[in-house]
Amino acid sequence: MDLKIDNKTVLVTAASSGIGKATAISFLKEGCNVAICSRNKENLLKTVTEIAEANLPEPAWIVCDINKEKDIENTIRVVTESYGGIDILVNNCGGPPAGYFENLKDEDWKFAFNQVLMSAVRFTRGVLPGMKKNNWGRIINITSLSVKQPVDNLILSNSLRNAVTAMAKTLSNETGEKNITINNVAPGYTLTSRLYELAVEKAKKSGESHEHILASMANAVPMKRLGKPEEIASLVTFLASDLAGYITGTTIQIDGGIIKSTY
Ligand code: NAD
Repeated sequence: MDLKIDNKTVLVTAASSGIGKATAISFLKEGCNVAICSRNKENLLKTVTEIAEANLPEPAWIVCDINKEKDIENTIRVVTESYGGIDILVNNCGGPPAGYFENLKDEDWKFAFNQVLMSAVRFTRGVLPGMKKNNWGRIINITSLSVKQPVDNLILSNSLRNAVTAMAKTLSNETGEKNITINNVAPGYTLTSRLYELAVEKAKKSGESHEHILASMANAVPMKRLGKPEEIASLVTFLASDLAGYITGTTIQIDGGIIKSTY
């Protein structure tokens, strides 16, 4: 299947590991110009080296703390100056801290608001003028199964991911006539360092091993396994393609069937 996105410029945020990294690799395989950003220079360089060792073109990389407005502006400027614009934006972020309502303070909420919602708002605001000018654009937000089925102990994620979802749906009404689609991809339990860390944290509290917790998570999925970052990446890449030009304003779950609702 020819996705017809070779030579498009893609920015994948928070992409030095996990779903972001797999997504960047998927776009590189499609012949796109890919830029990745993340807050840690060493991790970024490690990722770029790994990609080069896999005989793929090296992505451009920018150190960016997506909680900081100035870093976001700088990232967009650098990518735009290097490639002449950004055609495809993948808004990924680190997962907000776990916690129950009673244990979270205003600072935790503000941090998660910046990390999850404002990062997506700011990156989107930065790329939209160029996309409108080109009469073509794709924005894909990585959210979570929690938008359809809240996850216990993740109230920050559960709340703010839904804000991203509503923003995307509303904005898609404003950008459709310019051929700019905006969609959300909601991963289920996917084996990355984020999931591993959540399992380790849960293990400390429950006294079970994190291996046991990961195995129980997999067992709760109808497909009896955890997702792979590459599986999320394939969906993101398809949504960014020319072939997906009539899909907008939607949230697509990719969860091995774990979400119980019918919509
Ligand atoms: P991950 O921990 O493997 O990767 C997160 C990436 O974000 C890393 O590259 C990290 O360096 C970067 N990052 C974190 N904070 C940053 C900041 N302030 N500025 C810039 N970069 C930053 O996580 P993942 O599993 O790939 O998850 C990606 C997203 O998908 C997260 O938002 C996560 O909550 C969500 N998600 C993951 C799962 C899962 O099971 N893995 C399920 C549902 C939703």
